[in-house]
Amino acid sequence: PIDTDAMFKVGFLNDVYKERPVKPVVTRFPPEPNGHLHIGHAKAIAVNFGFARYHGGKCYLRFDDTNPEAEEEIYFTSIEETVRWLGFEPYKITYSSDHFDTLYMLAEKLIGLGKAYVCHCDDQQVKLQRGGEKGASPRYRCEHADQSVEENLKKFRGMRDGEYKPREAFLRMKQDIDDPNPQNWDLAAYRVLNKPHHRTGDKWIIYPTYDFTHCLCDSFENITHSLCTVEFFLSRTSYEWLNQQLVEYQPMQREYGRLSIEGSVLSKRRLKELVDKKIVRGWDDPRLHTLIGIRRRGVPPGSILEFVNELGVTTTNSIIQISRFEQTIRRYLERTVPRLMLVLDPVPVVIEDGDEVDGTVLTIPFSPKNPAMGDHKIKFSKTVYIDRSDFREVDSKDYFRLAPGKTVGLLQAPFPITATSFTKDEATGLVTEVKAVFDRSGKKPKTFIQWVPAESAGSKKCEVRIYNSLFKSNNPTGAEGGFLNDLNPESEVVYPNAVIESGFDEVRKRAPWPEAAGEDKLGKGGPESVRFQGMRVGYFAMDSDSADDKIVLNRIVSLKEDKEK
Ligand code: ATP
Ligand code: MG
Ligand code: MG
Repeated sequence: PIDTDAMFKVGFLNDVYKERPVKPVVTRFPPEPNGHLHIGHAKAIAVNFGFARYHGGKCYLRFDDTNPEAEEEIYFTSIEETVRWLGFEPYKITYSSDHFDTLYMLAEKLIGLGKAYVCHCDDQQVKLQRGGEKGASPRYRCEHADQSVEENLKKFRGMRDGEYKPREAFLRMKQDIDDPNPQNWDLAAYRVLNKPHHRTGDKWIIYPTYDFTHCLCDSFENITHSLCTVEFFLSRTSYEWLNQQLVEYQPMQREYGRLSIEGSVLSKRRLKELVDKKIVRGWDDPRLHTLIGIRRRGVPPGSILEFVNELGVTTTNSIIQISRFEQTIRRYLERTVPRLMLVLDPVPVVIEDGDEVDGTVLTIPFSPKNPAMGDHKIKFSKTVYIDRSDFREVDSKDYFRLAPGKTVGLLQAPFPITATSFTKDEATGLVTEVKAVFDRSGKKPKTFIQWVPAESAGSKKCEVRIYNSLFKSNNPTGAEGGFLNDLNPESEVVYPNAVIESGFDEVRKRAPWPEAAGEDKLGKGGPESVRFQGMRVGYFAMDSDSADDKIVLNRIVSLKEDKEK
């Protein structure tokens, strides 16, 4: 288990708790089911679920489903799964739409109090009333604000009963237009949408706004701390105002900074463009920072929590470099996953005097640092694969890997080899085979390279996908001609003929490794939980494109930061 407590002990969240030290703490994570969650939401999940857990309380997963125009079934499922994948169990799953009846009643109550009116102005008029462009002109109310309670009630019921088309009428709160805070300028409370809702069907054609719904639902669920992002700071006024008019129990809203990743795109509109134009493999493409993408890539949920925890929680928005996120993932994987040998671009090396060791079984530990991970066996073979980048046709002084006349060690195997000759395909210019002999001098080689036995000894072919940043610059949305002009052509590099040693079978069988915190209870059996370090190549996970007879691997992160670029 990972210690995510740090962010609750000091600073912002601790101050929030000091303001209202109650037991039990009750929080909610309130996504709108109109898209897949992204890395920013992981922070919101960690803050809300973590804060409750830390104080021995409970956290709701509340779907804020008040806008049937944008919401779809698939997002409900995806969001719930993602929350659980991150290791959190909702106390209850609720829906703002559960409260449509009560919300409606309370809207009538607000009208009765003289604090709401049905307005027929269009967007343009409303904008002028609210001070026009930049709020520079004097604010004023329209004549609808003077309607009697009876007239407002009659019209509001008319809205409910289908007497108005969308935009012909909407309910507005009657707040305080003299106050400098725009959230006090007679906000919309209910609008006509004429759309069926996936939970309430065609029962309603009017739907409450966020400003009307959120604070009331918080009160209904006895939320003690309603934690949201800083762009809602000014909304705190309307949040408190509305609850004070209508309900007994007063929850408290506090705001924390948003998290975004530099050089990435998180907005739904842009992600959708990438998906629709088939620039990426889908919403769960491993290059995206959607949580389903990050998951598919193989990033362990524990490392995401660790990342959020390291950043801490303050009231400022932060834009974090991708490299910082990857550094946390790398550190996390380094201590939690087994090691295997994987060759991306294989060249066969025939060891000419290798008959005596052909078939020898080597016992290799899964981790040199953690004996508890156990070991596995691989069979040595007379022909082994090494990576193309580890061989040079012409040796040089500053080169330490394999070349004719040069000796190199094979990782995990007690036999260094010396290359004697090679053959080449003249058409492609590529080396097709290297011949070598054992070095029996007993000298320890300067360099060890990874290798994989022949398929006849149990190795398997696989496809490996190496990822780089999807964009060339750190600010794709600011790129000339838009973010699609900033695409990195090398964002996915595929090695279709890679070879992995037979130890992979056991790693796959044992996944998720108990060392991977939390996940043993969660996301069980997902291909992405088959993770390992490919020695000298990076950290990998199995992709969901894999099948029984096909292995597809994603590189989660490289071994070292500087190799990334
Ligand atoms: P987006 O438009 O990016 O989907 P959103 O605010 O519309 O963001 P919601 O579904 O309303 O997304 O978000 C659910 C919760 O997650 C809210 O409390 C919101 O404040 C929080 N949240 C959203 N984006 C971030 C972020 N980048 N960092 C931290 N919290 C976030
Ligand atoms: Mg959203
Ligand atoms: Mg939102």
